[in-house]
Amino acid sequence: MSLKIRSVPPEVSPPGRSSLVDNQGRPITYLRLAITDRCNLRCRYCRPESGVPFIPHAEILSLEELERVSSIFCALGVSKIRITGGEPFSRRGCLDFLRRLKRINGLKNLHITTNGVKTSRYLDDLQEIGVAGINLSLDTLDPRRFNTITRRDYLDGVLETLHGTLDRNIPLKVNSVILSDTNNDEIIRLATLARDYPISLRFIERMPFSGTEKSDNLNGADLYQRLHTIFPSLAENSSISPTTARVFSLPNYKGQLGIIQGYSRLFCKTCNKVRITPEGMLKTCLYDNGALDLKMLLRSDRNDLEIGEAITASIKNRFINGHEAERLSERFEEPSMSVIGG
Ligand code: SAM
Repeated sequence: MSLKIRSVPPEVSPPGRSSLVDNQGRPITYLRLAITDRCNLRCRYCRPESGVPFIPHAEILSLEELERVSSIFCALGVSKIRITGGEPFSRRGCLDFLRRLKRINGLKNLHITTNGVKTSRYLDDLQEIGVAGINLSLDTLDPRRFNTITRRDYLDGVLETLHGTLDRNIPLKVNSVILSDTNNDEIIRLATLARDYPISLRFIERMPFSGTEKSDNLNGADLYQRLHTIFPSLAENSSISPTTARVFSLPNYKGQLGIIQGYSRLFCKTCNKVRITPEGMLKTCLYDNGALDLKMLLRSDRNDLEIGEAITASIKNRFINGHEAERLSERFEEPSMSVIGG
């Protein structure tokens, strides 16, 4: 009988350092795990009304596989993991999975991105687990518009999550995709969240997906101009080196405003993150077609050391930026953000 070595005790990188450094010298410290493609909303900019065909359960990474691959990444130097999807809480066992992840050696910050529809019921557990922050997706405070955008009537549940998160002092960011018909009044209403609460309110450029309705994209530069017109005293916080968003302060605001320019690919130079799709593809860039089939490796007899070596090799072969990735990988347009993990 042959003995399969499933796991080699990981040697954890020293704190603050990652041995995962790409071919451009960018340290990789941040992993986004899309743990499911399923979601209880049907946001117009994310997926079609009918949804996208669900990935069969056997094709998505099991929670055990996700835990194993997370510990391999942490052994290589990743210190921050974000759980996303689909809607993470649509996956049965999500909470226990978070508990297990939190115990991984080397993991310092565990975050979650959620639409908030059902999240309020889990907030006590998330606080107890020690989740470092919640990103809540919320594009409007108007119930009718919420219904139009998400095709569901769940704004109250999302607001319950928002206030419950604040009540528990869990750091909160709100992400709002700006659509071609998002008017200034809406932007002002959303910004009041950052005025009244310690919330980082980030406006997101819409990315095109093949399964979604076509609409004009408002790019980040236009968005910045609009914000500046609405809020003349907007001041960019340049003291931090941004990896995801431009951050702005306003006098007498408890929180901050931000712009996420993923479509403009503004932060490629400092990009420290990689993604794993629900099907177990490693994406070293949002715009590549997948750099490594982790599911295949995890379901083979490779041990953790060998999988770690394959990951390191992929990272050493990373595209310079999202434009190059899109051009050289002849990228196909995904049907929905849910199959990537936003
Ligand atoms: N269900 C969770 C949620 O709603 O936060 C996590 C998954 S969702 C795909 C992650 C983020 O992707 C959300 O903030 C959502 O607004 C964003 N997103 C979805 N489609 C997008 C698009 N076309 N352009 C930009 N962001 C998008």
